[in-house]
Amino acid sequence: MKLAIDGGTPVRSAPWPSWPPPLSAGQRELVTEVLESGLWGATQGSLCTDLAAAFAARSAVPYGVTVGNATLGLFAALRGLGVGPGDEVIVPAYTFVASATSVILAGATPVIVDVDPVDLHLSPAAVEAAVTPRTAAIMPVHLAGSPADMDGLTAVAVRHGLAVVEDCAQSHGALYRDRPVGGLGDAGVFSFQASKAMTAGEGGVIVCRDEGVHARTWSTCNLGRRLGGEWYGHPEVGWNLRMTEIQAALLLPWLDRLEEEIARRNAFCEAVERGLGRLSVPWGPAASAGSGAGGAAVSSSAEPDRSRPPVTVVPQPPGTTLDSRHLLMLRVDAPVDREFLLAAMAAEGVPLDGGYPPLGTMSALVEAGARVEPCPAAEAASRTVVWVRQSMLMEEAAGASDVVEALAKVLGADR
Ligand SMILES: *Cc1c(COP(=O)(O)O)cnc(C)c1O
Repeated sequence: MKLAIDGGTPVRSAPWPSWPPPLSAGQRELVTEVLESGLWGATQGSLCTDLAAAFAARSAVPYGVTVGNATLGLFAALRGLGVGPGDEVIVPAYTFVASATSVILAGATPVIVDVDPVDLHLSPAAVEAAVTPRTAAIMPVHLAGSPADMDGLTAVAVRHGLAVVEDCAQSHGALYRDRPVGGLGDAGVFSFQASKAMTAGEGGVIVCRDEGVHARTWSTCNLGRRLGGEWYGHPEVGWNLRMTEIQAALLLPWLDRLEEEIARRNAFCEAVERGLGRLSVPWGPAASAGSGAGGAAVSSSAEPDRSRPPVTVVPQPPGTTLDSRHLLMLRVDAPVDREFLLAAMAAEGVPLDGGYPPLGTMSALVEAGARVEPCPAAEAASRTVVWVRQSMLMEEAAGASDVVEALAKVLGADR
């Protein structure tokens, strides 16, 4: 079959669902109400407070603080936990840059350590090996919607007396051993940026268990004020990191449909996984041309491991009860050129994302003082893992066959 990139017919011509999803009646109503009330600021209305309380309750902790975005939320949570200059914070090498830049913003040193080679989440063994007398905190990232190995990471934290800040930017609604993420560590931070599972364009929320941590985090986000203290009294140095009531009005009604959307994305992902298991062209002519005779589709180097299917779903870490499916991560073991794969899949109407480079390869972080441990698993992931984006996962599960069919076509192409 002629590839679409060579002028053939694409596997899919129908569009994928757009993101964000259409506004609900509840969102229209509440946003209109806020706009007409004129009470737009977080210090004027009660919706930001309601949203913070809702996230705290969903995370099974007492306190929440809304914030302008999760990058600043992670920064404020670190400050709330007393992390600052001279401290080290351990972050995974396969994540969004903000997991590390928030540490730099707090004046501390990010220590970039490797992820588990199979599930790509922060590795407890790698964390243990990187702990020094200066280590103050660990930042597990619940990557792609599946919770990190919190039992393993918490054990390391307890052994060394470290704080745990969960980066929940990709995991609204996810469950770890039946417990909601965000309340598993000392603080959890969710993002409402445009690409996330709930969005108001931008925004974030911090949840935590301890009254003192809450008071300091709130103060950091509110110009150093004391909770309940005088308006023009600023006993600490803080910033204005608040979000608006209009954002909260978009987000509060979303909570009513979050679980339904998670179920929808799970159904799609499971259909992709079943389809990949049945893939009948495991190693087509192009992908098998390890000799170099196959042309552009094939990287000339590695000989593939033919005992494995060419494309597999990256598995969840142990303990995942509910994956919120922010992304579907696929590992491509076929010796196919990555740039070609991404271009050919896009031409077939199934655009994939190339994913993160390892954090340790970002020179700006290193120049800002980040310490980088050896990260072979993150480096391998940056070469072999591709993502199916959240908006595509919102499609009816029947649409999963387009993903599988396009992969089979591209990987099996005789080109
Ligand atoms: C999006 C994201 C952030 C940052 O969130 P913002 O709200 O955009 O600042 C942090 N960590 C991870 C893992 C993310 O995906």
